[in-house]
Amino acid sequence: MLDSLSNSLKDAVKKLAGKAVVDRAAVDELVRDLQRALIQADVNVKLVMGLSQSIKKRALEEELPKGMGVRDHVLRIVYQELVSLMGPEAEVSLKPQTILMAGLQGSGKTTTTAKLCRYFQRKGLKVGAICCDNFRPGAFTQLQTLCQRINVPIYGDPKEKDALRIVKNGLTALRDVEVIIVDTAGRHALEDDLIEEIMQINAIVKPSHRWLVIDAALGQAARDQARRFHEAIGIDGVVITKMDGTAKGGGALSAVAETNSSIVFIGSGETIDDLERFEPNGFISRMLGMGDLKALVERAEDVMEGGDLDVNAMLKGKFTLKDMYKQLEALNKMGPLKQVLSMLPLGGMNVPNEVYDVTSVKMERYRIMMDSMTDDEMDDPSLLGTSRIHRIAMGSGSSVDDVRELIKYYKMMQRALKGFKGGGRFSMNRMMKQFGG
Ligand code: GDP
Repeated sequence: MLDSLSNSLKDAVKKLAGKAVVDRAAVDELVRDLQRALIQADVNVKLVMGLSQSIKKRALEEELPKGMGVRDHVLRIVYQELVSLMGPEAEVSLKPQTILMAGLQGSGKTTTTAKLCRYFQRKGLKVGAICCDNFRPGAFTQLQTLCQRINVPIYGDPKEKDALRIVKNGLTALRDVEVIIVDTAGRHALEDDLIEEIMQINAIVKPSHRWLVIDAALGQAARDQARRFHEAIGIDGVVITKMDGTAKGGGALSAVAETNSSIVFIGSGETIDDLERFEPNGFISRMLGMGDLKALVERAEDVMEGGDLDVNAMLKGKFTLKDMYKQLEALNKMGPLKQVLSMLPLGGMNVPNEVYDVTSVKMERYRIMMDSMTDDEMDDPSLLGTSRIHRIAMGSGSSVDDVRELIKYYKMMQRALKGFKGGGRFSMNRMMKQFGG
């Protein structure tokens, strides 16, 4: 789903760059590109239409926020609408609980059961699994092999024909376990006896959660499956498997919409560790090529809380050496500079490689040199002529070249930041306002 959809979406949004007003033709074109990309990724047509309508309406009717370019305005709307299509972020509790796994044969249910055992085990919980799939020969041995590898107890009885009895015995056998994952039988297609059996298992287990396992390559059939299981036991979370093997994956979104639930986990490989928590904001941000905006916004907020960036001055377009130092300090607190910058929506901004190269050692050197500057010089670096540079070098125990390097770095940063959003302004605050919604 990620790659091809992501590329089409990025291309579609790129077309808006440089536009001064939101015009209907441009929005129509974007929405058409978006529709094509989503339908190619197997997203249900009805969902796509609903999404298109909301994006069109909002892009044309909502006022262009002050200081925001057309591209970012529309990008933000596309982002928010796609996130809401994914459903709210699913919570995964770390309390004692029982999870019932539903899904058709071959969807990846047994593998996912083992992966979940691993997930909760890593969180420090006592985990166990029950295999009541006595329909597929080998299901028990498969789960047993996987669970034995991670020392997780499993209950099953391949000779017992009655799945309900297996579940009852399993619950007794695993009564000391905090998290129980119940793997149920899948059939080739949705047969009535499968639905009947899972309803009875559900009644006995009274699970905390009922998760539906869906193969990412399934396409539109996902919707019918989801509906049947949802009507039978009430699905409250979806696990999409085999995301590593398909360019599509949109069918699973239909399952989410059908069950009014959310994607909880994504399976991304055959080994027991190939399971990822699903986080809609990050997923969509990456898909739109915007980096992980939510993570960035949160980290930026953390830094801002204790930070003393002169955001007001910077909003006026003033960027002094003092600002640069504070920015570097703030960015440094947020993590490696390169990683932080890769999360920024730097769209058209051309960041010279040297900007990334500033290490904490270098920053410490910059700080020492700046300590030898007067307040006036920090506020107005154009004052820094040859004699002042010599004085600063002497005062800080650095060479003249070091001071010149600092000034060069400052100028490069200033130029780069001027290019940011074309407005000559760069501030976390402004960026947070843009993307925090
Ligand atoms: P079940 O019949 O629903 O229990 O399905 P299984 O757990 O036996 O999985 C069916 C096949 O899909 C197996 O070959 C698994 O190794 C494979 N599989 C499961 N999850 C994933 C995944 O996330 N990625 C990949 N590549 N293969 C998976």
